[in-house]
Amino acid sequence: MAERISHWIDGKAWSGVVGRSSEVFDPATGAVTGAVDLASADDVAAAVDAAERAFASWRHSSLSARTKVLFAFRQLLDERKEELAAIITAEHGKVLSDALGEVTRGLEVVEFACGIPHLLKGGFSEGVSTNVDVYSIRQPLGVVAIISPFNFPAMVPMWFYPIAIACGNTVVFKPSEKDPTAAGWMAALWAEAGLPEGVFNVVHGDKVAVDALLEHPTVRSVSFVGSTPIARYVHEKATANGKRVQALGGAKNHMVVLPDADLDLAADAAVNAGFGSAGERCMSISALVAVGPVADDLVSRIVDRMGKLRVGDGRRGCDMGPLVTQAHRDKVASYLDAGEQAGASLVVDGRGVEPDGDTNGFWLGPSLFDHVTPQMSVYTEEIFGPVLSVLRVSTYDDALTLVNENPYGNGTAIFTNDGGAARRFQNEVEVGMVGINVPIPVPMAYYSFGGWKSSLFGDTHAHGTDGVHFFTRGKVVTSRWLDPSHGGINLGFPQSD
Ligand code: NAD
Repeated sequence: MAERISHWIDGKAWSGVVGRSSEVFDPATGAVTGAVDLASADDVAAAVDAAERAFASWRHSSLSARTKVLFAFRQLLDERKEELAAIITAEHGKVLSDALGEVTRGLEVVEFACGIPHLLKGGFSEGVSTNVDVYSIRQPLGVVAIISPFNFPAMVPMWFYPIAIACGNTVVFKPSEKDPTAAGWMAALWAEAGLPEGVFNVVHGDKVAVDALLEHPTVRSVSFVGSTPIARYVHEKATANGKRVQALGGAKNHMVVLPDADLDLAADAAVNAGFGSAGERCMSISALVAVGPVADDLVSRIVDRMGKLRVGDGRRGCDMGPLVTQAHRDKVASYLDAGEQAGASLVVDGRGVEPDGDTNGFWLGPSLFDHVTPQMSVYTEEIFGPVLSVLRVSTYDDALTLVNENPYGNGTAIFTNDGGAARRFQNEVEVGMVGINVPIPVPMAYYSFGGWKSSLFGDTHAHGTDGVHFFTRGKVVTSRWLDPSHGGINLGFPQSD
């Protein structure tokens, strides 16, 4: 019997009339395990109303009161993270250890947000003019919307909501309809941690719910993560409606391997970053750029490692799980045909994989293309699956040009033992997150996460100080406490004296 997955509004699970709904699958078995309610604009309005009511008091709660709740949430999440990881594996398909890794990285943002009293400290200048002091404060925005993709059902929303809540905002969160259960679980955990009703709300849904959030006049900001076309749409529509927006989009991440690199390290990294989470990560490596003579040797070391990967049910200790839906699996597989037709050499074909799992699961094994050229669709498009493409170039400059001419700019990595080359790369590459002998350079919570070019629309990256900035507005106060000598008429523009 498929479980009904519904919204969380005003501190409780919603039990209203079911309208439209969408099936949720276990990707490792192909079975339908749930039906998620898809919110109407009225359902979204109910969540926004609850958040608006809660904002009236949450914004005035003391920093001590807020941090107490954050610490309690952090404690509960740490104690019960295996539960959340199991939920993620059951709906997303990624292997349990990877799901646990996702929760742990999200937890780090909660820990960062626990330091909010320090992060919200303003500036103070005494005596800027005679008897006049100036100080700056940062205040919450109000009701903020978070819209997330399927591939990190726990970590991506955690990039935003701990900081939003810590800053005194109230949240309406719309998770992906493909793996929705984690959202309700996290909402219930907030309630257990003592968060007042209405501060954190969840509405499930699709474009109807997203559009309702983008249009609702009470929603002050939108934090979106998903594919580039939808990120661009969300940015345009929400800014047109006067909202503050950060919209993180898709990616095509390059890993450049210079001739002096440690090829075993590079081959391990390419396999880990290419096929972890079945390539369904915005920081996956999908283009491996082999510089000079390294390509043959590198490809052969990668093929050796690929042969040892165990594909199967994420609950059975495998290395790589299934793809999220049958439709996505088939789309990714179609790139294998497209690459072959375009003339790339398919060195490893994942279509013949024999998984350790139910035959009805959405399986596709890791695949490797060599001799890919920049015009082929396997290179120009984000595949978002376990397909790694090797491009061969002659020089460092050719590699840099390739990366910089790509429309995406999320993450990149260089593998080399030449510190000077690495330093040049970090300076010259037009990408938001750079790894040096590190294939997936996801920043720690106290730095900010975000790409350049078509990988991010808006000015502000996620979490770190950018996050605190995004979820607050600055205010500057100029004060004069009266001295007996004050007074006098002066219509001139205020100047210091
Ligand atoms: P998606 O764009 O299909 O969906 C993202 C969100 O938008 C979901 O909540 C979905 O319900 C909603 N949505 C889908 N279609 C919509 C429409 N037409 N109008 C309004 N809303 C719509 O993305 P996905 O398939 O869930 O996730 C994978 C994508 O997310 C990849 O492109 C990946 O690179 C990207 N991603 C980026 C980052 C990053 O930090 N840059 C992180 C994770 C994922």
